[in-house]
Amino acid sequence: MRSFIHALPKVELHVHLVGSASADTVLELARRHPEAGVPTDRAELERFYTFRDFDHFLKVYWAVQSMLKDRHDIHTLVVGLAGELARQNVRYAEVTVTPYNHFLDGVSGDEVLAGLESGRAAAAALGVELAWCFDIPGEKGLVAARETLAFALNERPEGLVSFGLGGPETGVGRAQFAPFFAAAREAGLHCVPHAGETTGPETIWSALRDLKAERIGHGTSCVDDPALLAHLALKGIPLEVCPTSNVRTRQVASIEAHPVRRMLEAGVVVTVNTDDPPFFGASLEGEYLAVASALDLSHADVARLAENAVLASFLPNPRKTSLLEEISTVLAAVR
Ligand SMILES: [Zn+2]
Repeated sequence: MRSFIHALPKVELHVHLVGSASADTVLELARRHPEAGVPTDRAELERFYTFRDFDHFLKVYWAVQSMLKDRHDIHTLVVGLAGELARQNVRYAEVTVTPYNHFLDGVSGDEVLAGLESGRAAAAALGVELAWCFDIPGEKGLVAARETLAFALNERPEGLVSFGLGGPETGVGRAQFAPFFAAAREAGLHCVPHAGETTGPETIWSALRDLKAERIGHGTSCVDDPALLAHLALKGIPLEVCPTSNVRTRQVASIEAHPVRRMLEAGVVVTVNTDDPPFFGASLEGEYLAVASALDLSHADVARLAENAVLASFLPNPRKTSLLEEISTVLAAVR
């Protein structure tokens, strides 16, 4: 199964750029910016980087964020992610970037764009196509929404495909962001908010109703509402499921207990993703393998997960077709 999963051409739909920084990338940044106080010794850094609990995760996340000072640092981050994806035979990824957090750290929009663009070109040379989702850090409110939207629409960088909403869900209602999502949609961006990761099904309903979500980031709590589960299945609205992330942040007890089984049984379009892979000790191949073994999936079931990601992506149709053909070929070879 491991080699089968590797051979499948894969698509990643839910990965945060800052959360994708591997220990190697963080070490490079820490040595470049010793003033950040992040360990510059490998063994010490690996200890700092080992997931302990959610508060420690946030501490590491913001430490990485604080070392992104200019285009060079962002380029390093993007290329590090691309290398990880290439090693796992991931061909295409929609990567969530939170420009407003970089602005708060004093990084200009021009620096962010330059780092993304040069990193994206370097990724293409590794055989990985990157697309961007610019997302609102919801906890920072409407000012963050306004700036994220303005940046997305004014700059419209190559590869920008979608508009998102992240950050804590509790106390951050989805509906308040409706006008920003309407404007993004009007401008041709796809809408992919997080919902139902740490709050109940009503947040998912709100993301669908108020933000016209085309995919749902996480959507874990949809299984608590049979009507919602049926609606997602009927409308073919994909979920970006991130199993290990959900276990690490204690939304679910284990991969075996993850509601992904009930989602699949209800006919929902499930895609498997990593969220913040090195922070959670996850990789896309590892997520496929974990779900396959927890649910005792067949090769065809696993291939279906890979197909779902292709179909749920915002790739142009000819690219989808060729990836789907490749998945069929890989599946045929094991039969
Ligand atoms: Zn996320």
